[in-house]
Amino acid sequence: MMGAPLSIVDILRHAAVCHGDGRVVSRLGNGAVHRYSYDACWQRVNRLAHGLRAAGLQPGDRVGTLAWNDYRHLELYYAVSGLGAVVHTVNPRLSLEQLAYVIQHAQDRFLFLDAEFLPLVEQLLPSLPAVERLWLLASAPAEAPGRADRAESYESLLGAEEGPFPWPAFPETTAASLCYTSGTTGKPKGVLYSHRSTLLHARAVAGTEGWRLDRFSSVLAVVPMFHASAWGIPYAAPMMGSKLVLPGRRLDGASLHELITTEEVDSMCGVPTVWQGLLDYLDDAGQTLPSVHTAIVGGSAAPLSMIEAFDRKHDVFVVHGWGMTEVSPVGTVNYRTPFMDSLAPGERHRYQLKQGKPLFGVKLRIVDDSGATLPRDGRTSGHLQVSGPWVCSGYVGQDAPRDHAWFDTGDIATLDEDGCMQIVDRSKDVIKSGGEWISSIEIEDAALALAAVSEACAVGINHPKWGERPLLLVTCSAPATREQLLQELRARLPKIALPDDILVVEELPHTATGKLHKAALRSRYADHYQG
Ligand code: AMP
Repeated sequence: MMGAPLSIVDILRHAAVCHGDGRVVSRLGNGAVHRYSYDACWQRVNRLAHGLRAAGLQPGDRVGTLAWNDYRHLELYYAVSGLGAVVHTVNPRLSLEQLAYVIQHAQDRFLFLDAEFLPLVEQLLPSLPAVERLWLLASAPAEAPGRADRAESYESLLGAEEGPFPWPAFPETTAASLCYTSGTTGKPKGVLYSHRSTLLHARAVAGTEGWRLDRFSSVLAVVPMFHASAWGIPYAAPMMGSKLVLPGRRLDGASLHELITTEEVDSMCGVPTVWQGLLDYLDDAGQTLPSVHTAIVGGSAAPLSMIEAFDRKHDVFVVHGWGMTEVSPVGTVNYRTPFMDSLAPGERHRYQLKQGKPLFGVKLRIVDDSGATLPRDGRTSGHLQVSGPWVCSGYVGQDAPRDHAWFDTGDIATLDEDGCMQIVDRSKDVIKSGGEWISSIEIEDAALALAAVSEACAVGINHPKWGERPLLLVTCSAPATREQLLQELRARLPKIALPDDILVVEELPHTATGKLHKAALRSRYADHYQG
């Protein structure tokens, strides 16, 4: 067989030829909606590549982006990697210190940013000696005063040279994009994706085991393009000719609903917090989702109440998936099967709490503390390990681990006989009480089923008798007392998992990727059970 290397830019070339009239729709920073075709996108990506080369971009260089999901960010995904350089998608929600660290650690030469991040970059520039040039993702140069006023206009890069770009050939293992983990402790760690890993992952998520995309689909990628390549959608949608809908920075329920309706979105991908906002908006405004058949939920556990609300109120099927930055990011998907259809609705909803089966190519196993493989019986839980062509073998700038064969996810999970996986907890978050393990996810799921609770976070707090006991923190949409909540939870949780205390708070802390910041809560309430 021919050894033709897999190359990301070939996805868009294919889209331009075979799905030339397929659409890309973007909500811009000013709220306006931009629409164009894959063919137009391809023309601009060629012009961008001319511009980037003229600006001095070399193969292997790193290019940082600080941007929301829109068509210009998409163009950078393709042009930069097509030149053999690396797109480093920077998460703007990182702390200033972490932002400076990741941009400097990656040695980003160029930085592309949305206008709203100019003040941020202005603050960062003194600690970013490697950054040579700044480009504003807009049609005009920066108007803001200060050092960042040297930001040039992105559109000016697309100026002079027209026509096909002579895309270079390189091995498929060449690095294409870079994403840093946003660990809550220690420094962020860089994960480099290759052309090969990106294409294989995109192909897998595009298919029927993944997001089921085809020429008829209209897919809304709410998950940010600055985090783990937006779950492969910016590659999978053009590959299949699906309409790609990019919501920019407006992720509130009303804005999302408007975009979903006007673009007749049928499947949408995002984290539970965003979907809760959408569901709350739909309830308040008395609206529905007639065009949508699938909500893809991942990044954190999909609560039962969300799976039920999507199904019962909106006839939307929740496809629950699991992944992580180090897995490109998608590892497992709980896609619809005949078995699921055979279950009564209540049973099916509970089955959908599982994170699903591995995509073809991904292998999973669970091991005990000594590394011995544990049975796949749906009950025994252990450390989840993963392997496959889009699983990272090590972090940028760090020595490769001794065991290349399996990547330790830091998650605790069970595996069923048929390969279906369920996350019990992060190993750092599982609550160890009197020798038993309690899943903080199980407590949160029970709390979220209570009418008054909008958000819930359970953490293990040191306890003089039990080692650790659960503390539950909730935000509420209606008045509720600790006693009422405890009373209601009694019916939903085994005695051992019932929190010793519940605190109703105004707000819960989140990490840069929108997950509950459990480490912060654990340290804040460290002494809560100490007499
Ligand atoms: P990140 O690398 O920031 O995307 O975080 C990856 C981690 O998020 C995983 O190791 C899991 O702990 C968690 N995670 C992702 N998807 C799910 C899910 N569907 N259910 C529970 N936890 C999840």
